[in-house]
Amino acid sequence: MRRVSIFGATGSIGQNTIDLISRAPSDYDVVALTGGANIQKLANDARRLGADLAVTAHEDKLDDLRAALTGSEVEAAAGANAIAEAATRPADWIMSAIVGSAGLAPGIEALKQGSTLALANKETLVCAGSLVMETAKAHDARLLPVDSEHSAVFQALVGEDITAVERVIITASGGAFRDWPMEDLVNATVEQASSHPNWDMGQRITIDSASMFNKALEVIETREFFSVSPTQIEVLVHPESIVHAMVGYRDGAVMAHMGAPDMRHAIGYALHWPERRDLPVDRLDLAKIGQLNFKAPDLKRYPALKLAWDVMERGGLAGAVFNAAKERALDHFIARRISFLDMADAVAAVLDRFDASDGLIDAPMTLDNVHQTDHLARQWVDDTVVERAG
Ligand code: NDP
Ligand code: MG
Repeated sequence: MRRVSIFGATGSIGQNTIDLISRAPSDYDVVALTGGANIQKLANDARRLGADLAVTAHEDKLDDLRAALTGSEVEAAAGANAIAEAATRPADWIMSAIVGSAGLAPGIEALKQGSTLALANKETLVCAGSLVMETAKAHDARLLPVDSEHSAVFQALVGEDITAVERVIITASGGAFRDWPMEDLVNATVEQASSHPNWDMGQRITIDSASMFNKALEVIETREFFSVSPTQIEVLVHPESIVHAMVGYRDGAVMAHMGAPDMRHAIGYALHWPERRDLPVDRLDLAKIGQLNFKAPDLKRYPALKLAWDVMERGGLAGAVFNAAKERALDHFIARRISFLDMADAVAAVLDRFDASDGLIDAPMTLDNVHQTDHLARQWVDDTVVERAG
């Protein structure tokens, strides 16, 4: 039996992971499940899977969680520290699927115990890439990608020599506003940005797909995960979301990874790696699909995408600044305080402020510095929003 824990168990990735595990319950011993506000779902899954521990991120929900677990043997806990502690409980395979930079600390704890960390939380690598990779190396832990593009790259690299790689191409669906007239984007609403043409995902990543902040994070994630240089990374808009990524080699060959847009592909690959096992996903019928389209991204439509290269050029803590500023700008958009297009402007302004701030740009990458930078960048976004409102 493999001991598994799922961080962000109540979310979109978490639930897909539980779906796969539930199909072969005797193969898995569930150690910890964590969630946020969705107490009932967390408690139900913890009971059903016989987890040792269930943790909510919200300290004020501990009583609710305890009540929901009454009569079961599942231990209840709450708060960010309890989530990080849950990551120290011995497990062979840990899914990192919390949304946002809150996923970083438990991810590091999981690596410190030498577990295999299936990484959906891309923010972990964007905020602290070098720290995470060094921690994994020091503790002989393995990182497996779960983001569909990175799983695709990982699979297109099997059996190949990384030094023969010329370029890595990740695809983007183009999100909710791919075909909108540019002049309408300024009025785009939260509801409109929250519907994705191809993928069924959590709300925040769906909005990030419409703005391509998600793709910007994924470009940085590609650099950190595969140690390729920024100039080797390309993005292609591919409306069908069938080809998830391609790896171009020095002889001109390009290996493309295809699959139906279902996250259980990438989750299942990470769960069974290095084997391939049956997965309950649709099989591709290319004759039915008929056509696959590709085009270069329009950086005027997706100003957030270009910022990825600005961030990689800065290096160090710039990724933490970028991610935190993006998260905070998204909070303001969801709260309807700023417009859809204001998000990229606010983040660009924060990156400029980071350049001008003494010492930060050269500060070493420690978990403390990442947290402090994260906090500061959020404050800077708030300043920008207040300034504009005034
Ligand atoms: P969801 O919003 O659906 O789920 C997020 C999970 O994190 C929930 O369990 C939520 O709890 C929990 N959570 C929220 N805030 C906190 C917090 N502060 N501390 C601890 N836990 C918290 O997100 P997704 O499943 O869509 O995405 C998860 C991660 O995977 C993200 O990093 C995303 O970028 C990445 N990803 C997602 C893909 C997808 O298809 N969905 C594809 C590729 C990557 P609750 O809901 O109970 O409040
Ligand atoms: Mg992705």
